[in-house]
Amino acid sequence: MKKITILGSTGSIGTQTLEVVREYSDDLKVIALAANSQVDLMEAQIREFKPKYVCMCDENAAKELKAHVADTDTVILSGMDGLMEISSLDEIDTVVTAIVGMIGIRPTIAAIEAGKNIALANKETLVTAGHIIMPLARKKNVSILPVDSEHSAIFQSLQGQPNNRIDKILLTASGGPFRGKKREELADMTVADALNHPNWSMGRKITIDSATLCNKGLEVIEAKWLFNVELDMIHVLLQPQSIIHSGVQFVDGAVVAQLGVPDMKLPIQYALFYPDRRPMRDNRIDFAALAQITFEEPDYETFKGLNLAKKASTVGGTMPTVFNAANEKAVALFLAEKIKFLEIYDIIEECMGAHKAIDNPTVDEILDAEAECYEYIAKRT
Ligand code: NAD
Ligand code: MG
Repeated sequence: MKKITILGSTGSIGTQTLEVVREYSDDLKVIALAANSQVDLMEAQIREFKPKYVCMCDENAAKELKAHVADTDTVILSGMDGLMEISSLDEIDTVVTAIVGMIGIRPTIAAIEAGKNIALANKETLVTAGHIIMPLARKKNVSILPVDSEHSAIFQSLQGQPNNRIDKILLTASGGPFRGKKREELADMTVADALNHPNWSMGRKITIDSATLCNKGLEVIEAKWLFNVELDMIHVLLQPQSIIHSGVQFVDGAVVAQLGVPDMKLPIQYALFYPDRRPMRDNRIDFAALAQITFEEPDYETFKGLNLAKKASTVGGTMPTVFNAANEKAVALFLAEKIKFLEIYDIIEECMGAHKAIDNPTVDEILDAEAECYEYIAKRT
């Protein structure tokens, strides 16, 4: 029986993780759940999965939830202290980090310090603090098992390849809802247009990131840390059908990749049961019906997210934090219809231009860089 904590259990990855738990309830037990503020859904999750602890980051939501579930045995915690506590409980084996944003950094570090394996969906943690997380995981001998579909595919492709003879990582991208569009056409794209992803159903923030290719930019940085490769060894390739989830080209030219229908439950399940594979239903590729899998180079000039992320990673230090924080805030402003789609890139570029990177930052320095970036955007007219 594997005992788990799920950070972000009310979100897209969180709820799909709970679907896997439901399917394999003899092998997986939820000990703790965390979310920000969705009281009703969390109450339903408490009644179904009977966790010992639940943390609501929002204090008011925690109070409200406490009143709702007073008849249960679940202990309700709140805030960052609560997140840290449920990430390092003695009785858990694995923490699923399905929270969105840099709020994931401290709980992830607490979990690794306590020797827990990490099923990692929260890419912002590695993007901003990869230099802290990866060495710590090695030191504590814990596994970071990727949940992001591309990184899971790369990880699966590397199984049975002990000598790390990687020539290139092939990181695939669907291209998002705006693939093929030019800059003029992007200017007036609405929130609804950007949320209309052709293949994947995901949280709102990551769906906008798919439209800007900032998601792929974050994933390039995530891959650099996870697989310990140089940036120029990561080749992004558009694969609009989202069937090839990513792969590895080895030094002899052999390419090993993982294919499948787009369904996050497979990478979630693989991370939870690694190195085992468990049956999944209704997810077989019908190759004949699919007929073709096509490829394109990304349009780097129109979709600047990818190159901005690479630039941030090349500068290093706190610059990836600024890329990430500026993007997070810009996406929130776009979702609130306060800025236009292309201004997301303007805001990231301005913030990166204004920032002087600190090398090898501590967690506090990372969070300070995030706060400074938010202030800069708030003052921007
Ligand atoms: P989502 O918006 O659907 O859910 C986010 C979850 O985080 C919610 O449960 C929310 O309550 C919780 N949360 C947000 N702020 C919080 C806070 N301050 N304290 C506690 N909990 C908080 O997001 P998602 O799409 O599930 O994505 C989660 C993470 O996984 C992101 O880092 C994303 O990049 C990554 N990811 C998602 C997918 C996907 O298919 N959705 C794929 C790959 C990677
Ligand atoms: Mg992905």
